[in-house]
Amino acid sequence: MRERECPRCHRPVELPLGALCRDCRQEIERRARRLGRLAAASTTVLLAIYVLVRLPPDPRGRLVSAMAVAAWYLLSNMVVRRAARELLP
Ligand SMILES: [Zn+2]
Repeated sequence: MRERECPRCHRPVELPLGALCRDCRQEIERRARRLGRLAAASTTVLLAIYVLVRLPPDPRGRLVSAMAVAAWYLLSNMVVRRAARELLP
């Protein structure tokens, strides 16, 4: 395979055209993970406040609300991380 350069940092890499080098992939993954955590945490706090304000009186409703908040954290974290991985320069 001919030597090409990483389209991001222009270091020579032995990868197919357009593929990023390992350092760049790791950096993007790190930033994507941090961004996902940050976005998930901040939106989850807002959701948690909303849920607390409008808390349903019965315990089962509270359990469902708590589960919804937890599910939201996981989901938004995953979605943002995936999007960031594609979109980060
Ligand atoms: Zn690179």
